[in-house]
Amino acid sequence: MSSSNRILTILGSTGSIGIQTLQVLESSTEKYELGFITANSKIDKLEEQALKLNPYGVAISDEKYYHEFKNKTKFKGKILCGEEGVLEAAAFEKNDLVVSALVGFSGVQPTLSAINSSTTVALANKETLVSAGSLIMNAAKEKKVPIIAVDSEHSAVLQCLIGESLDSVEKIILTASGGPFWTTPEEEFESLSVEQALEHPNWAMGNKITIDSATMINKGFEVIEAHWLFGLPINQIEVLIHPQSIIHSLVQFVDGSVKAQLGMPDMRIPIAYSLSYPKRLNYSFPRLDLSDIGILTFEMPDYFRFPCLKLAYDAIDKGGSATAVLNAANEIAVHAFLSNKISLPEIAHLIGNALDKINNIGQPTLNEIVETDKETRLFVTNLINENYK
Ligand code: MG
Repeated sequence: MSSSNRILTILGSTGSIGIQTLQVLESSTEKYELGFITANSKIDKLEEQALKLNPYGVAISDEKYYHEFKNKTKFKGKILCGEEGVLEAAAFEKNDLVVSALVGFSGVQPTLSAINSSTTVALANKETLVSAGSLIMNAAKEKKVPIIAVDSEHSAVLQCLIGESLDSVEKIILTASGGPFWTTPEEEFESLSVEQALEHPNWAMGNKITIDSATMINKGFEVIEAHWLFGLPINQIEVLIHPQSIIHSLVQFVDGSVKAQLGMPDMRIPIAYSLSYPKRLNYSFPRLDLSDIGILTFEMPDYFRFPCLKLAYDAIDKGGSATAVLNAANEIAVHAFLSNKISLPEIAHLIGNALDKINNIGQPTLNEIVETDKETRLFVTNLINENYK
């Protein structure tokens, strides 16, 4: 590896954000080299990426797939195994930037591993801050490591805050498309299918986050994420429904002025910004044409049809390990919905149940968060097995 180029490691390179990150790098005018790319089970995709892009190494978190990959691969670089391997990839000493694009709680420890190795993190895994926000932000502060948001809303807020001081912020307004069911009547929610839930109107994303958008817990996660990233109390973070997904978020200041960031709903734009921040590079992504779009509309969120959004506010109000419970319960419930075991509204019931029953820990350590995560998964899995056979 030559020392002049920036070295990037992508955790979760075969997922939606990982693939789009590689597309951004390919069309970038700056030279990058890849440290590690990692996958869980999509080893064919990983092989294709590794042979084409020639990273220093790869890591495969599922051991079964590691062995399968190792036996048949033509890739000549380093091959790391299991969760330990992903942690090692995150902590690779040559990394200049780690893109954390893992899905779910699995992102927590690798992200922490990158921070503890004093590497800048471009964070696309929102469950990390939902589950372990205080821990992650304290570690980042201690190591003086910037955490740059990849999520379109947080990228928008970051861009609106350039040149401003936090004291002059009155509130952050996170926009939400409302997902595929924003106009669906309440009585139809019970019978909504997995296929319907996977059809997001504006954004092409992975399955987990698409279901999270359908229940709108995704927006609740983003409120929690914004709270940690920008250091604002939860009552200064609002949600506004904006079905066209053109305004990606807004910041209102103490003088009544409001800044917004606009763009096409294309994740490659916030990904590119997170890689070059605070600079901007030239990209030829499709341009926004407001005269073509014509009308932008806005509505208040509906906590009645989308109780998951309310549960997210409740969890952060409760504080401590409650948001880790929120996340773990949601991961299990979403998986059960995707396997046709429960209906969409049951996701909120299961999360509410877990938040009521699981013991809350005030200032959880990493171990306590990991234990809370496990306990919640078991609790919700048992509830599903007892009630929804
Ligand atoms: Mg988002």
